[in-house]
Amino acid sequence: MTTTIDTGPGQLFIGGRWREATGGARREVVDPSTGKPVTTVAEASAADVDDAVRAARRAFDAGEWSGLSGRERGRVLHRVAQLIRGNAEELAALESLDVGKPINLCKAVDIANAANDYEYFASLAFTLDGATRDTPLNALAYTRREPLGVVAAITPFNFPLILAGSKLGPALAAGNTVVHKPADETPLSALYMARLLAEAGVPDGVVNVVTGSGPVAGEALLAHRGIDKIAFTGSTAVGRHVAAAAGQALKPVTMELGGNAAHIVFEDADLEQAVGAVIKGFVFNTGQFCMGGPRLLVARPVYSTVLGILAEAVPGVPVGDPRDEATVVGPMAGERHLRKVEEYVGLARKEGGRIVCGGERLDLNGGFYYRPTVIADLPNDSRVVQEEIFGPVLTVQPFDSEEEAVALANSTPYGLASGVQTGNLARAHRIAARLQAGIVWVNDWALLDPAVPFGGVKNSGFGREYGPEALAAYTKVKSVVVSLD
Ligand code: NAD
Repeated sequence: MTTTIDTGPGQLFIGGRWREATGGARREVVDPSTGKPVTTVAEASAADVDDAVRAARRAFDAGEWSGLSGRERGRVLHRVAQLIRGNAEELAALESLDVGKPINLCKAVDIANAANDYEYFASLAFTLDGATRDTPLNALAYTRREPLGVVAAITPFNFPLILAGSKLGPALAAGNTVVHKPADETPLSALYMARLLAEAGVPDGVVNVVTGSGPVAGEALLAHRGIDKIAFTGSTAVGRHVAAAAGQALKPVTMELGGNAAHIVFEDADLEQAVGAVIKGFVFNTGQFCMGGPRLLVARPVYSTVLGILAEAVPGVPVGDPRDEATVVGPMAGERHLRKVEEYVGLARKEGGRIVCGGERLDLNGGFYYRPTVIADLPNDSRVVQEEIFGPVLTVQPFDSEEEAVALANSTPYGLASGVQTGNLARAHRIAARLQAGIVWVNDWALLDPAVPFGGVKNSGFGREYGPEALAAYTKVKSVVVSLD
């Protein structure tokens, strides 16, 4: 299928100017639904990153943004939200092309949430203030919330627009300037957003976008002394390295890392509705969802019933061309992701897993498609259960008691999300309190809103995105104590 989507000039955006990378290096961007390159973008060098950080520093020091009141910044960010909504069709087409996401999902989730993110933090910017503190000192003591300075935002491939918004929204609301490095494979919406941010009135140099690789552009950001905070979303392996670099430099850092959530279904749940949520939880975004629910734990009395419903329903989930409005599951975002899923399903077979459905690629237009796959009978300590697969794969395990369900749910190194399906309210709260996760959903999955903080525990990271907690994480508190003697 040929495309008429405007992918833009694909240049770096530094100091309010578009330009090529030094030396003119460029990288191909591939359409996951065909496996073919659709465009190229500039590949930033360490020198380009240095330029971007310097531009961000100059803009911060100039005070055209950092010196505004929260309310003034909030007005600009409200315009950003409106512009995202006004350009929804274009943005959705771009995100779908770049990531392979179904077009309907892009509109309903990616574009809608990105606009909501900016709107929410625009509104929070209006509330940004300090506090007076009562003290026995003969003094007036108050706090100021000040921006941190230059933020490095490093984002992954799976939700490019949303995860950039979840960083740029609060960072800008608080008055920081930003250098954004989107994922190597999915840079297009970040460049489009640079245009919209400028159009909304964000001054030159406040947001800079450097497209490039992790080992070059990413490393240059980590090593740069001009960065005041690192906001990272990505894999646990890279996150460890980023956190170590931030630790060396004593920089604040937010770590949004991998996940491997458990979805617990009790015998008292509405099973049809529960299985619907389970399917949504593992096929959403073709399973490339840090908060997806790839581990299903089912109470033994309903174990075979649930497996039966899954065996019937999952093969009916429409997999196909992301441009088709009926598609629910598109291709994986890149060939390396598809290979990883194939390896894990191969491993599941070796580890004694029974493939209930799926378990193979879908041959379509040369794209990176994999059929949604359900695997039963794997031991809890198998790698397929314990590790993050990041594809449309669900493992199913029975449990015999609440105690065992909680133990199994908490048994992996990750702790990002978790879910409970039950008709018993007391049980829902009891289990939610015991799950090691940053967010717990009850009787649904993936209910997300910028007002609700999310983030990880254990190997899923630390710090929270969304909510007032996120805005606070992009500020520093200064106390001022004025003698009244
Ligand atoms: P990744 O870790 O490979 O890459 C993430 C980003 O880090 C990319 O921009 C990449 O270029 C950059 N990077 C890579 N090496 C780097 C280095 N040495 N220095 C600096 N930057 C470097 O992750 P990915 O494959 O793009 O994304 C998938 C992972 O992200 C999964 O593990 C998923 O669970 C996780 N994720 C987490 C959340 C969350 O909110 N916790 C959200 C989305 C994705």
